[in-house]
Amino acid sequence: MYKTNTCGELRSKDAGTEVTLAGWVNRRRVLGGINFVDLRDRFGMIQVVTDPTMYPEIHQALEEVRPEWVIQVKGIVHLRPEGLANPNMPTGEIEVLATSVKVLNQAKTTPITISKEEGENEEIRLRYRYLDLRRERMRKNLILRHQVIKFIRNFLDAKGFLEIETPILFKTTPEGARDYLVPSRVYPGEFYALPQSPQQLKQLLMVAGMERYFQIARCFRDEDQRGDRQPEFTQLDLEMSFVEREDIMLLVEELFTKLVAEVVPGKRLFSSPWPRLTYSETMHRFGKDNPDIRFGMELQDVTEIAARSGFQVFENAVAEGGHVRGINVSGLGEYSRKQLDELSEYAKMYGAKGLAYVTIPLNGEQRSSFTKFAKPDVLESLLETMHAKPGDLLLFVADKPAVVFEVLGRMRVLLAERLGLIDKDILAFCWVIDFPFVVWNEEEERWDPSHHLFTSPMVEDIPLLDVDPGKARGQQYDLVLNNYEVGGGSIRIHERNLQEKVFKLIGLDPVVALERFGHMLEAFEYGTPPHGGIAPGIDRICMILAGEPNIREVIAFPKSQTARDLMADAPSPAEPKQLRELHIKLDI
Ligand code: ASP
Repeated sequence: MYKTNTCGELRSKDAGTEVTLAGWVNRRRVLGGINFVDLRDRFGMIQVVTDPTMYPEIHQALEEVRPEWVIQVKGIVHLRPEGLANPNMPTGEIEVLATSVKVLNQAKTTPITISKEEGENEEIRLRYRYLDLRRERMRKNLILRHQVIKFIRNFLDAKGFLEIETPILFKTTPEGARDYLVPSRVYPGEFYALPQSPQQLKQLLMVAGMERYFQIARCFRDEDQRGDRQPEFTQLDLEMSFVEREDIMLLVEELFTKLVAEVVPGKRLFSSPWPRLTYSETMHRFGKDNPDIRFGMELQDVTEIAARSGFQVFENAVAEGGHVRGINVSGLGEYSRKQLDELSEYAKMYGAKGLAYVTIPLNGEQRSSFTKFAKPDVLESLLETMHAKPGDLLLFVADKPAVVFEVLGRMRVLLAERLGLIDKDILAFCWVIDFPFVVWNEEEERWDPSHHLFTSPMVEDIPLLDVDPGKARGQQYDLVLNNYEVGGGSIRIHERNLQEKVFKLIGLDPVVALERFGHMLEAFEYGTPPHGGIAPGIDRICMILAGEPNIREVIAFPKSQTARDLMADAPSPAEPKQLRELHIKLDI
């Protein structure tokens, strides 16, 4: 037996017991001629000591061990001497006096130090991911992820769900991204597509009568690697039959409310039940459809005042159908010209032509970028509408609504972070509902589904599809946590006619529609129950629960930000023979 106990489980009550431990040397130090080795395994850390007079050979053996060597230690558990207990270590009241030591394997000096976070660049961590994962932080993250998934499995099992695997080699199942294709050897010139999500398959499981399905599903999307994305990621994919939007939302709310209480008891929910915001409300209040509701600083509409302000920039924007909105940032009333210029650059980065401001210092003169161009009473009306008081900074954007929302939505979060308004221990879940069913794609001059092809419009809005599709709402719901959209779902279309109508509305050629989705249309004719589902993102949720800044920190072997596996060096060229078998000629 390699070990009788783990390195994390022994306590003062075990004093006097003989144990065998095995693990990695985390650190070794010599104090007063005695070797102290911190021995580490997946379950924790324990201090091993030698007695150079009683066991000189053991002392010698421990003298030679280096960090990350794998050793086995036999010894007796002792209480640490008075005053030497380490309250920061769960095993800190005891130590193991070694009576035998065996080196199971040596280790070269590791390129990253396991016992401390060194803030080294991420490339080296990903290249040596198997070493990085030995670190406390990563170990905790993987344990948390395991607990999240285990909780989900148990919860859904108790609710009568079946966990069903769906194929990875499949046909395009569109979620709006590019597909990863897998060439077929057997069918020259033909390809499987890796699922962007199991969307069609889970709906077909409803046609198959499974009623309650879930899967911890891997999804593949060949997207540009902007931001915090991975080519493959994991969703809790679920689908239910005979449900309305409300049923899915209540189920998910119960799941995560209970999950938080059990898995991360140190975190608090912002509110329970979770707030529900319509798409229009969230845009008007927060400028985003993934609102962070943990703090105020909501957007205010000052379009009316701006329209008759005398200030040309405002008036022109309104005349062209734009809006003028602002935020009141309490606490930044003393911002300098330079700081305001920096904010203005930020606004321009996201499409604004400029950023208008009023600073209201606690002492001293108000300053404004525009009031000298405006009518005399405008400033007063703005201050009143914005509930301004000394110490406040007012920021305004005048533009097309989309730009105003984008810029102020981001600015609000940026400044809240700067001001420390965000309590990291609060989890603010909320629902966003009543999305537009379709959005206009300017470039391609057609309607795009705002969720995906299979989402049902609101029943009462179906007539609008013929006359004013932009006004129809979809039966979609987005799950938002803090500053992130962490999942989306919908009630689906379950009738062939309506599905065909939607394909037509979004400009999908009927022949192409049949080719790609003929199996869905056909299935809908064999008794398809009303159904709906959702797919919360496991990576992102674990990231937030772990308090990590990006999803790579909660994935064992993630790709780099440029979509490479730096450890195995993938992607990599294929052998000519493999390419021939796949009927592929390279053109690079
Ligand atoms: N398949 C959808 C997605 O990946 C989720 C859903 O509609 O259930 O976003």
